[in-house]
Amino acid sequence: MAATPRNREPWITAVPGLPPALTPPQLREQLRRRIYQAALWLGLFVLALLSVIEGTRTQATDAQSSVNALLMAVCLLALLWIRTNRPLQPIERTLYAANLVAIMVQFTLTRTGSAPDAALLIASTHLLLIANAIVGYLAFPIRAAAALSLGSYGAAVAICTWAVQTRPDTGLLLTATRLHVSVATLLLLVYALAWYRSSYLAISGQHELLTRQALTDPLTGLPNRHATYPAIEQLLAQAAGGQPGSVILLDVDHFKVVNDTHGHPTGDRVLISLADTLRAHVDATHTPGRWGGEEFIVVLPGLDVTQAVALAERLRRHLHTTPHPDVGTVTASFGVTTACPGDDLGRLTARADQALYQAKSAGRDRVEVHHPPEPVPPEHTLGAESPA
Ligand code: GH3
Ligand code: MG
Ligand code: MG
Repeated sequence: MAATPRNREPWITAVPGLPPALTPPQLREQLRRRIYQAALWLGLFVLALLSVIEGTRTQATDAQSSVNALLMAVCLLALLWIRTNRPLQPIERTLYAANLVAIMVQFTLTRTGSAPDAALLIASTHLLLIANAIVGYLAFPIRAAAALSLGSYGAAVAICTWAVQTRPDTGLLLTATRLHVSVATLLLLVYALAWYRSSYLAISGQHELLTRQALTDPLTGLPNRHATYPAIEQLLAQAAGGQPGSVILLDVDHFKVVNDTHGHPTGDRVLISLADTLRAHVDATHTPGRWGGEEFIVVLPGLDVTQAVALAERLRRHLHTTPHPDVGTVTASFGVTTACPGDDLGRLTARADQALYQAKSAGRDRVEVHHPPEPVPPEHTLGAESPA
């Protein structure tokens, strides 16, 4: 049975409904794409509805229809852009610019039309101004977005005030001024949220980095011993459900001699190249890790003991037949065991360690297996309880 793909990096948490092997920035981008798609479909629906309503009215202006058509075209383009997996930033900025044009045209249009129509247009355009500020904070760095938000608010207030003042009915100026004040407050709130978001992202980025450092072996870049525990626990949980899963423990032979002969830095390079070999020989569902010193582990969900021994043998042969450029041939000994129901981390790794010890005792550069104990048959247990 195929094992479920897991993140190679143990610090990454999978999000339901999204591919499992995404890094945190990729996850954020995927989530943003989904939110944009939902918002754009909603925007298209609202714009289509507005166009239908406008079409039924006699005073509908060409300019207003053109604004709606422009916004609908940009929404469609953005949807197409996002669905074809292109980078988000250009389309975010295009959306921002198109909205800004729509906002300014709509405020200009409040010069004409009946007072209720103009009041409605002023109100809805203020809402668009807030929505555009939100897009701005997603599309631009926070300082640029704040400057753009302030600038577009200033321009909007100026155009709206000018347009309303040219009308004969003076009541609209008061309505517009009230809206300017309310929208200014909301724009401040949007800025506060954007500032909170960017601070949060900076802090979570630092946290990600620290977690990554705490779980990664700095020399080889492999998960360290602690970071392999979740993979082993997952393997044990699968074994409890009857699925196969094995581990390989390997240790470089006579590594002290390598250090003593060629120096510690060369010894380090041997370990780095061994880690590369492990990475190259396992697939995405397997977890190679540095168990400690010159000892490594490979956690193999989905592999039974025969498959795990075959992989260990391939690794052993590769090391034996591929001399290191500075040191020559470096071999390793391998201990293999398979997980069984009722195992725990300690028992499983102790068996692998015993197998490794056997491989060392039997002359090194070899693979040994330590099988889990056979389960006791139920009749045997019954017989033991009731002596004849
Ligand atoms: P055996 O075949 O029995 O495993 O012999 P060995 O020499 O490999 O084993 P031993 O335990 O005697 O020595 C292991 C050496 O590995 C000692 C230690 O200094 C070295 N070592 C552990 N970690 C590192 C490391 O990160 N870099 C280097 N260069 N050496 C390391
Ligand atoms: Mg060794
Ligand atoms: Mg050792």
